[in-house]
Amino acid sequence: VLVVRHRKRSAGRWARAAAVLEELEEQCATPTLKLREVADAMVKEMNAGLESEDGCKVKMIISFVDKLPTGAEKGLFYALDLGGTNFRVLRVQLGGKEGRVVKQEYEEVSIPQELMVGGSDELFDFIASALAKFVGSEGEIHGPAGKSRELGFTFSFPVKQTSIASGTLIKWTKGFDIAATIGEDVVAELTKSLKRQGLDMRVTALVNDTVGTLAGGIYDDSDVVVAVILGTGTNAAYIERIDAIKKWQGPIPNSGSMVINMEWGNFNSSNLPMTCYDQALDVESLNPGEQIFEKLISGMYLGEVVRRVLLRLAVEASLFGDSVPPQLEVPFALRTPIMSEMHHDTSADLKVVGAKLKEFLGISKTSLRTRKLIVQICDIVAKRGARLAAAGIFGILKKLGRHDAKRRTVIAMDGGLYEHYTSFRESLLSTLNEMLGDEAAASVQVILANDGSGIGAALLAASHS
Ligand code: BGC
Ligand code: MG
Repeated sequence: VLVVRHRKRSAGRWARAAAVLEELEEQCATPTLKLREVADAMVKEMNAGLESEDGCKVKMIISFVDKLPTGAEKGLFYALDLGGTNFRVLRVQLGGKEGRVVKQEYEEVSIPQELMVGGSDELFDFIASALAKFVGSEGEIHGPAGKSRELGFTFSFPVKQTSIASGTLIKWTKGFDIAATIGEDVVAELTKSLKRQGLDMRVTALVNDTVGTLAGGIYDDSDVVVAVILGTGTNAAYIERIDAIKKWQGPIPNSGSMVINMEWGNFNSSNLPMTCYDQALDVESLNPGEQIFEKLISGMYLGEVVRRVLLRLAVEASLFGDSVPPQLEVPFALRTPIMSEMHHDTSADLKVVGAKLKEFLGISKTSLRTRKLIVQICDIVAKRGARLAAAGIFGILKKLGRHDAKRRTVIAMDGGLYEHYTSFRESLLSTLNEMLGDEAAASVQVILANDGSGIGAALLAASHS
């Protein structure tokens, strides 16, 4: 009798789990037709944002970068790259047409969690002091004496640029939340901190990481027209014809074009496949209602969506036994790199999944069936993100009339999500090919511009100094 009752109960649990999974699969579905609608909505938002920023979700920020590196850049330049999780300081020796990048050195520092949500001065002082240490460690290469060093500042957050070397912070994203910086010129903030450090450096270019990646990409391959970041956050930049930028009121640049920082992370559309997990994640986030596209796609959030699904399964279908594992209730306890490792577990008994559940969620005993279910959930959430990112890229290519063209078109890509999450990357690429069709797909290439944003900022500092 006992055995039978137990079976019944477990059959009920599995039926419940299957129902939750089925609902997830349905709500996350991204059939190609839907992706085409998403791409078209993106194009519409792009056009609106190019006319005016007022009330637009996709800001289409004018970067003031109207000339891109040519290869002739020469001299010693520094770059500071403040992104999602890390920040880097770089020193680049550019040798001109023949020499190219003669020498490059960098240091990477992870940003302490408390600084992301603390005071503005504290964050900028931290950055400036790391830079001071780095500059102080100057080895074989030195800048010309008596000349202040030139610095490219890659700042990977939405900034309303006021010139190539100034801009005010619109809002923080990706786990940063420092009220005092909003509305401030981030170059002025950095410059104050540099002074406090006694550092004689001048910011000659303030760029978003997408813009830096575009500049770095084009330095290596002149067919680069779009840059995309898929890391902790997500965004894209591309080269636009100046006459298509209706809101531009400045002089017509010689190049006839301007780089646009889209800030596509804030894209939203009724076509986006949203679930109750996404809604709850958004409401409980540091920036509710903001960065909805980013919350469906980027590395900061994918693991968190999976955690929320698992938590529901733990509560409603006792997936991990009679009690809910306490660590499963901790927001962001399941990071995307861990999700990726579980997703890519190829062992027959899914032992990597088992080990990760134990290490990161304190869940020690699971059945193979449970572990298989978890892999399936990772797959659904990753695929949705990758396919949506592909739709966004397709939208840009469509806007540029390069979605069916024969011209070689290169997309410079950067970010840990794309680089390290293999099945995410593969799904993105195959979806993009699918949307383009065989012929156009043959002329579109995605290249990994590994940390091109730092080099790109140095190159822009060089060409704008
Ligand atoms: C920011 C963008 C940035 C992107 C990738 C987003 O959260 O708003 O400015 O380019 O992350 O780093
Ligand atoms: Mg970065």
